Amino acid sequence: MISTNPVYTGLETTIFETMSRLARQYDAINLGQGFPDMDGPEEIRRLAAEALLTRSNQYPPMLGLPELRQAVAETASRFYGLEVDWQSEVLVTSGATEALSDCMAALLQPGDEVVVFEPLYDCYLPLIRRAGGIPRFVRLEPPHWQLDEAALRAAFSPRTKAVLLNNPLNPATKVFSEAELSQLARLIIEHDAIAICDEVYEHIVFDGRRHLPLIMLPGMRERTVRIGSAGKTLSLTGWKVGYVTATPALLDPIAKAHQFTTFTTPPNLQYAVAHGLSAGDSYYRGLADELQRKRDRFSAGLAGLGFRVSPVAGTYFIVADFSGRDTDEADVDYCRRMTVEARVTAVPLSAFYEAEGPRRFVRFCFSKRDEVLDEALSRLAAWR
Ligand code: PMP
Ligand code: GLN
Repeated sequence: MISTNPVYTGLETTIFETMSRLARQYDAINLGQGFPDMDGPEEIRRLAAEALLTRSNQYPPMLGLPELRQAVAETASRFYGLEVDWQSEVLVTSGATEALSDCMAALLQPGDEVVVFEPLYDCYLPLIRRAGGIPRFVRLEPPHWQLDEAALRAAFSPRTKAVLLNNPLNPATKVFSEAELSQLARLIIEHDAIAICDEVYEHIVFDGRRHLPLIMLPGMRERTVRIGSAGKTLSLTGWKVGYVTATPALLDPIAKAHQFTTFTTPPNLQYAVAHGLSAGDSYYRGLADELQRKRDRFSAGLAGLGFRVSPVAGTYFIVADFSGRDTDEADVDYCRRMTVEARVTAVPLSAFYEAEGPRRFVRFCFSKRDEVLDEALSRLAAWR
């Protein structure tokens, strides 16, 4: 046998791809993988199409088109009062996933510990491990997803190099409070560690909440890497345009990892995303308001069918406890049967835990047209 790297060898296909394939096979409504079924603003898509014909299609600058780096810096200032030098502190990547990969490659050395929060996004553990890092888990449990201060402290050690925080948290739909972020910041500073903040859902928070980037907390500016994505902010998940903001000492090695990973991202998409990010406040408010309305519509529908629905503070997912629906099967089996029999697809929550995840919860994505959500609900009602 030829030996290949153990981190990736034998690794299962991600739950998102697995469930999407199953959904296609059974012609199910796919509320599993997280993507909107309506593409982002037409004006932005037109700009991308025109740019393909009228602007350069050759390598853009390695750090990203100036227009987009400026737009990322401007939105940081506009939404959070975070002042950023677009030339030395912003990098464009091919999606937040590439940004995360660059961060792990550039910031970790073998044996470094990284504090992570379960439930966690699928790429985190392989990327940490491939870089030689060792994950230290802090576990959050449904339905309240409370962060236990003692558990948080226990995850830190003298070998802690970084904390990887997803806020708002997919799939918990939790938005970390200022008090929780302060606790975390204190520990990070105490351990002289780096915060890597996956904030792709920064603009999808509900009920009047405001996203607070960890980088804004006292003492965090020089030790935080902030990651965003046009996939979520502009509802263009297939474009894979992401951006990283960090102090030059951190951004520089991250950019070097990027330089030998993708080097760049399609220039027409960067150009269009720059315009998209510069949209007026009404665009951003509209995104959150519209998703909040869908959250309420779909939560009410699920609750009426016997699902116990956890409160959703941010992201476009709902976690629902299905144990009130007369079954004691595990989430993985339930999701499979729901796809095959009801022709509605969700993802099992346990997939977001390294081991022994909760077994009676599923995640639905509600970023879909109302008629699609309603049809999913009526299929689930008939299934019962
Ligand atoms: N982080 C989280 C928490 C996500 O949900 C996603 C999926 N959008 C990503 C990162 C990846 O983002 P991208 O598609 O920009 O790579
Ligand atoms: N972020 C999406 C989710 O949580 C999945 C993206 C992907 O499939 N790579 O569902």
